[in-house]
Amino acid sequence: MSDAVYPGSFDPVHNGHIDIVQRASKLFDHLVLAVYDSPNKDILFSTEERIELFNEAISDLPNVEVVSFAGLVPNLAKKYGAEFILRGLRAGFDFELEFEMALMWRNLDQDVDVLCMMSSLQYKFVYSSRIKEVVRLGGDISGLVPANVYEALKEKFS
Ligand code: ADP
Repeated sequence: MSDAVYPGSFDPVHNGHIDIVQRASKLFDHLVLAVYDSPNKDILFSTEERIELFNEAISDLPNVEVVSFAGLVPNLAKKYGAEFILRGLRAGFDFELEFEMALMWRNLDQDVDVLCMMSSLQYKFVYSSRIKEVVRLGGDISGLVPANVYEALKEKFS
């Protein structure tokens, strides 16, 4: 058993992320969910909002904590004493990106290793960007995000 950090934008967290967190929480002693403070893309929810939504959604998991982070992911892992960086993989498209990023992180710090977990089938088409677009256009995304996230999205677009 060991510790891991799971970094991402989580704008907002959806059930594909939650599924990975639930499964990974059984593999690691401690899992740090790291919400990227200033992602290189437009974000809808502030860092505080993204953390709150994530915290509410994983409150039943005792060995998981949500933090914010800025800077390099290997430094984040070091800070929390984590041996692993956890990432999720959806369809083929994610693989190239995650592979290249993992190589860069390993190049920065050989002490940390990157683990990827496969998406569950029912979430393999779920992207935060697509979720936001569908809600903005009035579509139904129940079952794809936690209830608190759905409410927050509807409020943003009302
Ligand atoms: P996104 O906006 O694509 O959801 P994030 O930066 O929030 O992006 O994703 C953080 C991590 O979670 C990444 O490793 C990403 O590949 C993974 N992830 C995102 N969506 C899913 C999903 N539906 N199933 C499994 N992993 C996912």
